[in-house]
Amino acid sequence: MKHAPHTIGDVLTELHCHTTASDGVFSPSEVVRHARARGVTLLAITDHDTLAGHAEAFEAGQHWGVCVVPGIEISTLSSQGEVHVLGYNVRPSDEAVRHRIAALRDVREHRARCILEKLAALGVHVPFEAVQAQAGDGMIGRPHVARAMVQLGLVPDVQTAFDRYLAEGKPAFVPHEGLTPADAVHLIHAANGIAVLAHPGLYQGNIEVLLNELLIAGLDGVEAYYPLHTPEQVQRFTAFAQQHGLLVTGGSDFHGSEPQGVSLLGSVQVPETMLRALATRLGFDAG
Ligand SMILES: [Zn+2]
Ligand SMILES: [Zn+2]
Repeated sequence: MKHAPHTIGDVLTELHCHTTASDGVFSPSEVVRHARARGVTLLAITDHDTLAGHAEAFEAGQHWGVCVVPGIEISTLSSQGEVHVLGYNVRPSDEAVRHRIAALRDVREHRARCILEKLAALGVHVPFEAVQAQAGDGMIGRPHVARAMVQLGLVPDVQTAFDRYLAEGKPAFVPHEGLTPADAVHLIHAANGIAVLAHPGLYQGNIEVLLNELLIAGLDGVEAYYPLHTPEQVQRFTAFAQQHGLLVTGGSDFHGSEPQGVSLLGSVQVPETMLRALATRLGFDAG
């Protein structure tokens, strides 16, 4: 590893963040620069359903002295609702796997069009082009729909768009039809990666059922440390991971649009022993 720190205890991590390659506000190189300014030296780029930010992030990482881990956050539909699966060290070595990851773009675009149809049926008209303009080259997501709605003056802010229309259970919600969580775990493994359940405390369905489905699928870890998790949830998910020999991870889920701004980067840390286990699996010398 080029920028290997002396010991893992010296490392400040950010293991969950988004860039303009999906629905983040900052470009991959800007995220790396901000992370470095916050003292982060191990940074995973985990954009939704795409690896597109990696090359730029690696280059910036070389420049700023940040070790960049190629990651992804795959959206899935489980029996318990929408579930996100993080992949770390995702390095697809064959064309078929690369193609399967690239196909996730079509799923997201189709979902966005379905959301717009539902909105239109509610009398809220948002042209697809307006959403695409928000997404740029990035993977389209609900935040882009919300930002287009704000720009068109249909809602006062992004949160209102979610609360009234776009959140799970609201009238313009459309579930992800792409992969199941087990599919995502298998796809991440096929790309030589480590599969981690993202923010388990955020799901509305039966978490026990979900965790067991993922265990059977070969899950490698659980993101126990997360800004919105209560201390009880952190403890519960850590205990679950340890009981089943899984890795424990954590990250801020930085998008760049949060009130804390860039100070969110590196704000969630995993205890040293757990980080050491993760670093070893990621192929870093954990000192
Ligand atoms: Zn997520
Ligand atoms: Zn995320």
